[in-house]
Amino acid sequence: MKVSFAHMGTSPIAFEMLLQDLGHEVIYPPKPSERTLSLGVQYAPEFACIPFKIVLGTYVELLMAGAETLVSAGGYGPCRAGFYGEMHRRILQDVGYDFELIFFFPPLKKPADFYRKLLKLKGKNSWRTLIYAVRKAWLMLQTLDDLEIRSHQVRARELKRRDTTAAFRKGLTYLREARSFSEIKEARAAALEELEKVERDDTREPLKVGIIGEIYVQLEPFANFHIEELLGELGVETRRSIFLTNFTRHDILSAAGDKTAIKLAQSYLGQKIGGHGQNSVGDIIRFSQSGYDGVVQLAPFTCIPEIVAKSIIPYLSKKFDIPVFTFFIDEQTGQAGVETRLEAFVDLMHQRRARKREMIQQAG
Ligand code: SF4
Repeated sequence: MKVSFAHMGTSPIAFEMLLQDLGHEVIYPPKPSERTLSLGVQYAPEFACIPFKIVLGTYVELLMAGAETLVSAGGYGPCRAGFYGEMHRRILQDVGYDFELIFFFPPLKKPADFYRKLLKLKGKNSWRTLIYAVRKAWLMLQTLDDLEIRSHQVRARELKRRDTTAAFRKGLTYLREARSFSEIKEARAAALEELEKVERDDTREPLKVGIIGEIYVQLEPFANFHIEELLGELGVETRRSIFLTNFTRHDILSAAGDKTAIKLAQSYLGQKIGGHGQNSVGDIIRFSQSGYDGVVQLAPFTCIPEIVAKSIIPYLSKKFDIPVFTFFIDEQTGQAGVETRLEAFVDLMHQRRARKREMIQQAG
């Protein structure tokens, strides 16, 4: 069967390998574009959040390209993400597409359902083959996360604008070609080496910004206007609160979530509200305690979990002495506006840092 899935950051590299290892013909998902978004907007209910619309648009593009089966996963609980698989399926069937959607819920929430769907993807492969393929995909995901983290450190110190982005993209091509455990390890070393070759000024002390918010808009650069590249090119080192590997550990393989963020959030938002709302609250405190200069919250417009978190942010920002900038994102959000507001936020953080240093000098 011709299988595909939505594009989310660098993860398609790992998922393509996993599905090919299981013998499926994979249609590699295109990077989302304006066309993707307009297809999503055309078929989605107006009130749906931006991840829903971009993923829907991607599905339309994949079905037009011949995909027969789409694989996806979603949350469970108060956030509407748990309904998205079913909503996507019904909308696309109404439009006239004939396809199968395999939508995974976290295995601990619906074990029998998870097992049944896993069997479909496993096909005639042995369990041993499946486990081997999953372990290899996991190594690939870890490698992709490590590469991204390093790229954010290097970009904030690069001497020539976009050198890091070029090196990072070159590294991704090595990883996409890797198929065995040893090839992934070799590709990892070669990709990291590309980043190390970028000329940079290691004496710089860049501003450090934590990125929080909903998972899809954190992970997919098209959905967040390439915010990490933009900030990196303004000399800011970024660190996301969510990577696919930590999300899998905290929210898919365990029912507990990110215990550190939840504990930190406890006094301000004591219950799960779906999505990443509670994490956003805890992560602001975590970034403040780790000495970050600011936090950017990425919030899809109409995303209730992030709206609730946002309502507590002015209090947290004051109490933990950290500026927090919220981007509400929908299909009307424009690149130029994002860049201008980011530049203003970076200026504010520079002034704040200079003021703090002055105060320390005066006190000393
Ligand atoms: S967390 Fe927010 S953006 Fe994500 S699916 Fe739920 S409501 Fe939509």
